Amino acid sequence: MDTSSELFKVGLALHGHKCPAMPLGLRAAEAAMKALGVQHAPDGQLTALVEIDRNHCSTCFADGVQVATGCTFGKGNIRSLGYGKFALTLIDVKTSRGVRVVATPATMRRSQESEFIKYRRKGVPASQVDPALVEPLIDGILAAPAEELFTIEAIKPMTLPPTPPHAFDTVICAECGEVVVERYARVKQGKIVCIPCAERS
Ligand SMILES: [Zn+2]
Ligand SMILES: [Zn+2]
Repeated sequence: MDTSSELFKVGLALHGHKCPAMPLGLRAAEAAMKALGVQHAPDGQLTALVEIDRNHCSTCFADGVQVATGCTFGKGNIRSLGYGKFALTLIDVKTSRGVRVVATPATMRRSQESEFIKYRRKGVPASQVDPALVEPLIDGILAAPAEELFTIEAIKPMTLPPTPPHAFDTVICAECGEVVVERYARVKQGKIVCIPCAERS
């Protein structure tokens, strides 16, 4: 893969800035999909578990995973485990087969020791760092063989808890007049309301 690849362009359009972690997510997703023999999920065919949390380096990894796998926040088939680690577990929902792809210490070190990260540590937003500092990192991640970037391991078949059927019914909150999915409506003094209105005294 290189920066002319459609996947990278879509990733960059979604993500918004040039950084090494989003492309690393693309590559991790690509490696996991290849190991499982599956394609980008148009619906809920795949589930992605990422191990990042929030407010730490390289959380951008998750955006690459979303773009490449089709496991997205909107579809609800990506989950963050919050371990502060740079790994993706991808599960083929139909067969319960899964694979875990982990960025190696050497892969993370190359980013961590880069000039780009020096600016990020000083609080410079990624979009304001000179692109010449980050582009070689991106090129390296996109071009490296997957086995050089990651450890790729099969995991025991993982059956996910059944998801409740998709709810399509909605009601109008009696207080704010906004639409709310029926399952989330509450009764407050005999009126059907949304959660924020139910919690407001
Ligand atoms: Zn980023
Ligand atoms: Zn309301």
